[in-house]
Amino acid sequence: MQRGPLFLILFVFSLLSTAQEINSLIREEKPKLVVGIVVDQMRYDYLTRFWNKYSDDGFKRLINHGFNFKNNHFNYVPTYTGPGHASVFTGTGPSNHGIIGNNWYDKFIGQEVYCTQDDRVSSVGTDSPAGKMSPHRMKTTTVADQNRLHTQMKGKTIGVALKDRGSILPAGHTANAAYWFHGEDEGNWISSSFYLDKLPKWVKDFNESGIVGSYLKPWTTLYDIDKYEESGEDLNVFESGFNGMESAVFPYDLKFLAPANKGFDLLKTVAYGNDLTLDFALAAVKAEELGKDEYTDFLTLSFSSPDYVAHNFGVNSKEIQDTYLRLDLNLARLLKELDEFVGEGNFTIFLTADHGGVHVPSYLKSLKIPSGYFDPNDFEKRLRIFLDEKFEGDNLIRNISNNQIFLNYGALHKNDINHDEIEKVLAQFILQLDQIDKVYTRSQISKGGFLKGIEADIKNGFNQKRSGDVIFILDPATIIYPLTGSTHGSGHMYDTHAPLIFFGAGIKQGSTTQRSEITDIAPTISALLGISFPNSSTGKPLNIMLDK
Ligand code: ZN
Ligand code: ZN
Repeated sequence: MQRGPLFLILFVFSLLSTAQEINSLIREEKPKLVVGIVVDQMRYDYLTRFWNKYSDDGFKRLINHGFNFKNNHFNYVPTYTGPGHASVFTGTGPSNHGIIGNNWYDKFIGQEVYCTQDDRVSSVGTDSPAGKMSPHRMKTTTVADQNRLHTQMKGKTIGVALKDRGSILPAGHTANAAYWFHGEDEGNWISSSFYLDKLPKWVKDFNESGIVGSYLKPWTTLYDIDKYEESGEDLNVFESGFNGMESAVFPYDLKFLAPANKGFDLLKTVAYGNDLTLDFALAAVKAEELGKDEYTDFLTLSFSSPDYVAHNFGVNSKEIQDTYLRLDLNLARLLKELDEFVGEGNFTIFLTADHGGVHVPSYLKSLKIPSGYFDPNDFEKRLRIFLDEKFEGDNLIRNISNNQIFLNYGALHKNDINHDEIEKVLAQFILQLDQIDKVYTRSQISKGGFLKGIEADIKNGFNQKRSGDVIFILDPATIIYPLTGSTHGSGHMYDTHAPLIFFGAGIKQGSTTQRSEITDIAPTISALLGISFPNSSTGKPLNIMLDK
C-alpha cells in the first residue's frame, strides 16, 4: 500500500480529533460543584465504630461509591479548629498559612489575637461584634480562591458553619460570602462586611422562618438507647453535661435548658446543630444556584456540633454516638438533594475533619492506660522561679500558650542574655518535669532536619514569624482540660488520624491504607479541576483515586 498525501491528511486529522476528544473529556469531567465537608473533631474510628448502625445512604454511600483514605493524618501541631480548617483548604500547615492556633499571642502587638477576628470590618446581620471577622490572618490562598481566580470570579464560593472560623478560613479571601451562627438571644445566621454590606434576602428569610427555634425541642436518641452498644453507659463520671441538669443523661429538654445555657448557643452544642447547618447550606445551594452553570462552584461546609458534643460528653459517650448517627442521616439528605438539584455525577464531595480527639483521660486512667491532666499555672510558676534564679532581669517570659513559650526579647536584650542559650537552658529544665514528653527550641526547629513523625509535625506547625521560642509536647493522653469531656491539640495519633473520603465526579471507587496527609486535599482538588494549586501548598495530589 502506498502511503500518499491522503494517508498523511487522514493521520493528522485522526490525531487532531483524538486531542479534541481528550479536551472535551477534560471539560466534561469538571464537576459543577465541589462540596468540601469538614466534621469538627471527627476521629477516623467514628466511621468504623458506628458502621453497623449507619444507613446505606450517608457515610456508607460515600465510602462504597467513593474513595476512602484510611490512614489520613494531620501533619502538624497544634491540631486545633483554626489551623485544621485552614490546612485542609490551603494544602499547607501553619508554617506557611500562619494560622498557628485558634488564639495566639501576637508578639508584634503584644496581645492575644483570635484567628478570624478583624476589627476593621463590621458585623452584618447582628449588632453584636460576632460578625467582625475575616480571613485576613491567613496568609495564603485556598483551593476555592484558586477556583475563583481561574474562572475570572465566575465560579462562586459560599462558606457555611456554625463556627465563624469553620466557615471563613475554608471559603478563603475571595468568597462571595461566608455565614456563621450567632446564638445568645438572637439565633441568626450572620456574616461580615468583609463579604457583603447586608444579608441577602434568602438569609433574612431563613432567619425569620422559625427553623432555628424549631430545634429547641427534646434531644432524644434516634434509635432505642439500649441498641447503642458501641458507646459507654449513658450515666458515668466522665461527662460534663448542661447547666440546669443533675446528670448528663438523655433526654435533654432543650427549650427548658436554653436560658441557663446561653440561649440559642445551646443549639451549637447538640446533634440538632448539624440539622440546622444542613438546612442553611441547602438553602444556600438553591438560592445561590450553586452547580447550575458551566463554572465550578464551591460550597465549604463545616459541621461544628460534633466538636462541642465531644468536648462536653467525651468521645465514648452515647451523646457522641447519637450525634454521628444523626449526622449520617444529614449526609444522606445532602447527597439526595444534590442529586436532584445539581444532578448525580455532576458534583464532587470530600469529607474530612479539622482534628481528632482524645478519649477522656480520667476514663483511660480507670482502665490503667497512662494518661493525665497538666496544670499550666503550676508549670508557669515553676518556669518563672527557675528563670529568676538562673538569669538577671524580670519577666523573661512574655506569654505561654498552645504549648509554646514566648520569650521577652526586650528583656533579653536589656540583660544581655543570648537567645540560643536561654532557649537551651529552659528546654533542659522543662524536659525533666513530669508529664513532659519532648521539648524543642526555636533554633533547633529553624535548623531543620525533622523529616518524620512528631518532629516533622512540630516543624510544619512552626511559623518562624508568629510561633514561640520553646515548644513542649505533653505525654500521650495528657491534656490541659477539666476532668470531664474530650479535647484535642496534640500531635499524638488520636488527634492526627482523621477520615478522608472523596466521592462523585472524577473519583474512582476504592480504599487505601497508604498514608495520606491533610495537606494533600487541596492539591488533589486543584488537580481534579485543572487549576493552580493554592499559593503555598506543600501537599501532593492523591493520584491513586483520580479517574484521570
Ligand atoms: Zn475543631
Ligand atoms: Zn474542639
